[in-house]
Amino acid sequence: MRRALFILIALGLVAAGTLWVAARPASLTVAAGDLVIESPLWLAALAFAVSLFMVGLIVRLYAEIRSQLARRRLKRALRRRDEGEEAMVSAFAALAAGDGMAALKHGEKARRLLGDTPLTLMLAGYAARAAGRVQAAETTFRLLAEQKGAAAALGQRGIAQLAVERGNHAVAADAARAALVYQPNAAWAKSFAFEDSVRRRDWQAALALLPPAESGSDEAIRRAALLLAAAKEETEPRAALRLEQQAAALAPALAPAHAAVVRRLRAQGHVRAAERALKEGLAKAPHPMLAALALEGPANESKAGRAKRVATLASDVGGAEMALAAAQAALEAEDWAEARRWAERARAAGVMDRRLHALLAKIAEGEFAGSERAHAEAEAHWRDAASAPEPPEWTCRNCGASHGEWSHVCSSCGAAGSLRWGEARATAPQLLLPAPLPGL
Ligand SMILES: [Zn+2]
Repeated sequence: MRRALFILIALGLVAAGTLWVAARPASLTVAAGDLVIESPLWLAALAFAVSLFMVGLIVRLYAEIRSQLARRRLKRALRRRDEGEEAMVSAFAALAAGDGMAALKHGEKARRLLGDTPLTLMLAGYAARAAGRVQAAETTFRLLAEQKGAAAALGQRGIAQLAVERGNHAVAADAARAALVYQPNAAWAKSFAFEDSVRRRDWQAALALLPPAESGSDEAIRRAALLLAAAKEETEPRAALRLEQQAAALAPALAPAHAAVVRRLRAQGHVRAAERALKEGLAKAPHPMLAALALEGPANESKAGRAKRVATLASDVGGAEMALAAAQAALEAEDWAEARRWAERARAAGVMDRRLHALLAKIAEGEFAGSERAHAEAEAHWRDAASAPEPPEWTCRNCGASHGEWSHVCSSCGAAGSLRWGEARATAPQLLLPAPLPGL
């Protein structure tokens, strides 16, 4: 518009100039070699003005054609974008419906129309995976992983998912570590990297991936299990003790942590500190493992002396497991009355499993040795023992497997710090890698 106004003003000026020149008799001569053209000045000015007008017209026409072409291009691009978005929605819907082939078709169309954007690549990757085109899915996820920032993390996530499905945990862990560079708090990536560190027995790396834990929480028990594993491989005894003490403080209900501290202190010759740690452990985690440690006295201890020491400890800390230990120590010291008293205290404290009946049978066999009464009473207790429930055991919260002894990692499923004493399997299964979107 501004340009048109400028042309009009210019034409007006030229016309005024032409009229002004026409009013004066003058001529213009142009000589080119032998050719001489002579024209009145007004005619030359008019020709010049017409030329200017023509040039203006051509410029205007050119601008109009260019603008028309640009509009058409924009329209076409908008149409492509709309069609591309429509194809993306169809691909997502097909994925959610579990129709891999349709997802693949729409995903490829979206990619063709919109180009290789993080979203189209992610969609095409998951669509290829859903359609069973594993190689194509991996290629697409690798393209996505070459992008920057969050898009790269999404690509690594796809690579990790495919690797897990093919049982290649090392590749999944590498992808997880690469994703953590862009998304340091990505839970799935931390989970994969953690599991890989546990598998490689790199306890420090695994510990570094765990969030800070409140004492006594599940996370704290997991951390404590890893600290105990690290302590077992630590060659410097004081450093190992520190790790074990950290584990006991983090997970006060975890008997193996207290047991490790007691054993370590005893091995280092700190007898009193070991007994204090044992007493503290028994108060916080009354477990057969610690009761067994209470039964292990000094090498020169008499049986009667041991029975007395264990009974004092049992009276101090209370609990069913120590009552059983005191009964056992009294039995070995052949103090039958004391053994019976402690066995009954164990029963009153809730021990109903076969250990109690076996103990009562042994007391009867010892007390009435060789008599008819010994035979009859012991037989009745052995019968009870056979039908009594099994003692509690370590059970993996993750997979439900039972274990005779505690260990840092479940030998059945590989979960770290998942063993609980006498607990049933957790009802909520753990999701290894939740879908970023429904259907993926
Ligand atoms: Zn398990």
